[in-house]
Amino acid sequence: CGIVGYVGTGSSQEVLLGGLRRLEYRGYDSAGIAVVDRPGDLVSAKKAGKLQALVDELEAHPIADGATGIGHTRWATHGGPTDGNAHPHLADGGTLALIHNGIIENFAPLKEELLAEGVTFASETDSEVAAHLVARSFRETGDLTAAMQQAVQRLEGAFTLLVVHADQPGVVVGARRNSPLVVGLGDGENFMGSDVAAFVAYTQRALAIGQDEIATIRPEGVEVVHFDGSPATPDEFEVSWDA
Ligand code: GLU
Repeated sequence: CGIVGYVGTGSSQEVLLGGLRRLEYRGYDSAGIAVVDRPGDLVSAKKAGKLQALVDELEAHPIADGATGIGHTRWATHGGPTDGNAHPHLADGGTLALIHNGIIENFAPLKEELLAEGVTFASETDSEVAAHLVARSFRETGDLTAAMQQAVQRLEGAFTLLVVHADQPGVVVGARRNSPLVVGLGDGENFMGSDVAAFVAYTQRALAIGQDEIATIRPEGVEVVHFDGSPATPDEFEVSWDA
């Protein structure tokens, strides 16, 4: 239901939890984060219930902090509001993490296809198929943006997706169809959100990501393409309200 992403030099846990708190007004039943702390290391935590349950979990069982991360609040549509169904969803032995807002209408045949390939599922959500599709394409392409481009070709429905991969620290890739995604432009750091509330505490410069577009953020810049890979030119706007 709410989405936040961060790349930069600061503490992504602070940015993610702060952003999720500002998105709480949308309503949700679970929350989770994933952080890439250094090359090869992706850590995550997720919990059903209020954001405070996730904060308590992180206090009881701390995970490493890092400068790349994604955070999610979930409003369950497929699979009950449990810890296991909370996002992020992991793939490829925990090297890739994905969060999703919306509904993937054709998740059932995709799940059949992936199960037949030997993929194991850890949740009952529609979202998890997207994690395994991006992971499969990442194994072929070695590039998270290219992997996202291949994966979204297979998906029907409404989705904002954000992914991070342990092999690509300093990169968050987002995609959207029939569901919102905005990029926040910082100085040596960049943000993503399901709405500007996710990052307005840090920057008021934003890019409106268009329908069927993919955004890749790095600390030093932002790149936006259409689902077919051709370059897109999203509108930049000033967020006109205070944090
Ligand atoms: N359909 C997904 C799920 O049930 C995402 C729901 C949402 O937008 O939070 O997990």
